[in-house]
Amino acid sequence: MLVLKFGGTSVGSAERIKEVEKLVNTPGSKIVVLSAMSGTTNKLVEIANYLYKKNNEGANELISSLEQDYYEVVKELFSTPEYIEKGNELIQSHFKYIKSFTQDLFTIFEEKAILAQGELLSTALFHYYLSEQNIPSVLLPALNYMRIDKDGEPDLLSIKENLKKELANHPKQTLFITQGFICRNAYGEIDNLKRGGSDYTASLVGAAILAQEIQIWTDIDGMHNNDPRVVEGTKPLANLSFDEAAELAYFGAKILHPASVQPAKVENIPVRLKNTLQPEAFGTLITSQTNGEGIKAIAAKDDITAIKIKSGRMLLAHGFMRKVFEIFETYKTSIDMITTSEVAVSVTIDDTKYLKDIVDELKKYGTVETDEDLTIICIVGDFIAESKGYALTIFDALKNIPIRMISYGGSRHNVSILVNTKYKKEALTSLNSTLF
Ligand code: ASP
Repeated sequence: MLVLKFGGTSVGSAERIKEVEKLVNTPGSKIVVLSAMSGTTNKLVEIANYLYKKNNEGANELISSLEQDYYEVVKELFSTPEYIEKGNELIQSHFKYIKSFTQDLFTIFEEKAILAQGELLSTALFHYYLSEQNIPSVLLPALNYMRIDKDGEPDLLSIKENLKKELANHPKQTLFITQGFICRNAYGEIDNLKRGGSDYTASLVGAAILAQEIQIWTDIDGMHNNDPRVVEGTKPLANLSFDEAAELAYFGAKILHPASVQPAKVENIPVRLKNTLQPEAFGTLITSQTNGEGIKAIAAKDDITAIKIKSGRMLLAHGFMRKVFEIFETYKTSIDMITTSEVAVSVTIDDTKYLKDIVDELKKYGTVETDEDLTIICIVGDFIAESKGYALTIFDALKNIPIRMISYGGSRHNVSILVNTKYKKEALTSLNSTLF
């Protein structure tokens, strides 16, 4: 069985939804994971923000405008009166539900229920579309099988069991459609796998059913060797290892959700990145195999904040790092890069929600400085310990750029360099011409 995931832009209009039908209506069994139509989740977030502020008028205005957009989609998607009516009824019932939240107390639980509507709508519309074309398919409700535990982590055991049961109800079917992103939490409430989480759904589903392959369909022909939004002439990478892909996804390659590599890696299921606009292109195949030694790609992650803690107490002392890291743990803030000297340690974070609290607590242990608007430039590949010259090539390319931090040797797959964001384009371009 294959798992195919289509992102928001791939189902972003009636026309695009029809293209997806052509890609999934092929021989072989498959589970198709869909995101919400592009823009929908953002609008639902906005609606929720109005509801939090008890601005029902603002919320209603946005709800009605989104509802109208969906009636337009129905008009363009379906060709028979029967399905136009079915589509309109579907839209009506989902939006009636969304509007019901203007009547009551609004909390995080209601917000999550609202955010789930995007994927529920896209999958139901696609399911109707297939029926109208006489293509048999089954809608698998993700809320029946996708689970996260008390820590918000996927509960793979129960996902496996639940999904197996759902599939067993339809032994003769080969085409299944399901919602990305949404799930239930440990208390049975509607929850989600965080923004962009549909890739994660696909990987979890793939791991749960031991799929032959997980395909992530987007609008670009795979992962590129540099950021195509910043540098011209980037090239798609045909092959990557799970570790290389995870580093690239984490450090800025927007095409794949970083968490989605792990479930596939654990079960050794190939992940293929494909382009809906150019289905014949090879894309990128991610497997356990590395495609040889060397530098493969560059990615950049913006909005990084560096925190430097300087302390005489660090000198020849043990336990200092533990105290520092415990503060980040308390505020559930993960650290991307670390560098140390005998009297100071610098770390970077991308989530600044608790920055003020973290800095306040760190002040117990030393003087603290923060630095914002930074970018991590991440050079990914397979650097075996004995190989020589990579550092020289990288730093030669960056010789005219002020470097704030360097991390090399943490894994054999990544060299990370922290620069001020204003030097990002220059750094990426110079690395591109030197390395490739
Ligand atoms: N619809 C969700 C979002 O926009 C999940 C996804 O598309 O992956 O974040």
